[in-house]
Amino acid sequence: MSSLLVDNIGELVTNGTGEGPLGIRRDAAVLVEEGRVVWVGPSAYAPAADRRLDAGGAAVLPGFVDSHAHLVFAGDRAAEFAARMAGEPYTGGGIRTTVGATRAATDDELRATVRRLRGEALRQGTTTMEIKSGYGLTVADEARSLRIAAESSTETTFLGAHVVPAEYADRPDDYVELVCGPMLAAAAPYAKWVDVFCERGAFDVDHARAILAAGQAAGLGVRIHANQLGPGPGVQLGVELDAASVDHCTHLSDADVDALAGTAHSDGSGTRTVATLLPGAEFSTRSPYPNARRLLDAGVTVALATDCNPGSSYTSSMPFCVALAVREMRMTPAEAVWAATAGGARALRRDDIGVLAPGARADLVVLDAPSYLHLAYRPGVPLIHQVMRNGVTP
Ligand SMILES: [Zn+2]
Repeated sequence: MSSLLVDNIGELVTNGTGEGPLGIRRDAAVLVEEGRVVWVGPSAYAPAADRRLDAGGAAVLPGFVDSHAHLVFAGDRAAEFAARMAGEPYTGGGIRTTVGATRAATDDELRATVRRLRGEALRQGTTTMEIKSGYGLTVADEARSLRIAAESSTETTFLGAHVVPAEYADRPDDYVELVCGPMLAAAAPYAKWVDVFCERGAFDVDHARAILAAGQAAGLGVRIHANQLGPGPGVQLGVELDAASVDHCTHLSDADVDALAGTAHSDGSGTRTVATLLPGAEFSTRSPYPNARRLLDAGVTVALATDCNPGSSYTSSMPFCVALAVREMRMTPAEAVWAATAGGARALRRDDIGVLAPGARADLVVLDAPSYLHLAYRPGVPLIHQVMRNGVTP
């Protein structure tokens, strides 16, 4: 059995035992065997290993967990972005532009885009990335989107209810029936999760409930896009259905915050339904950011993710989202880094990632910086020196 010791770590973020909310350890080392962390402790007392990776006194943290991304698409919408920056509002209607391009693309073209973006994210420290369908919107195109997504991630999400496609514009009930029936049946073998864009102009609460319940009955976990563009019932529907995560959460009522906070375990060990904030979307649509402080102060578990997609947030960079969360949403650097690692893991109901402790997957990032603080302090700078996934450097 080959072992690897990562040592001479100046600042280790464990998200486990250690100092402060990030479980920080100084002058630390991590021993990896067969893709797993088997020991964490002071560098000076590190066990012997077959190989050694010298972190050079830099900071090491768990790989980022990006729990919300739309990577299976064709074309780009740079012109729409430019128009928006010139004053046009974002409505979500541009999704249909991408649907047309995606349907026309070959499998290999879609596969190449997923791999390119997945590689781009990996180089920026993302070791786990959820991938949604949602630009096919036919039985065959949603199934192939998920088949291709599943080649790059085990965290795949069926989002047939992204938007009502043009050919069903005047009969949305029929489209929901298609999503709940043949489309779900074709998609489910490749999907772990089901998701709905519950928003004015997309799917209303009754449609969303029907689709999510059908997905649950097919064995999929629930997530939901909710309260992005305006207030609505999506967040409370997510809590009602025990969603792993409600995503966006930009426009929340007190009752929405109470519902999220009320999912806390009776032993106080945290919440079941995570609020995933996607500041890249507000940045790229020049919209008001969600109120992260209100959620954190209410005890809600918060995750950060990129929402990487060609329309409203074409970034694959978790460090960028951390910097936005700190600068624009008043999260502390520690809260933002926790949300981008352990928070993302909770949003995917995983306890083997987002943490560096014995038993966890050996997914970690060596920064070209002495502290995690630099992720927010030095925005836009490539600080990811080395990435390890499953104990190997890709
Ligand atoms: Zn999204």
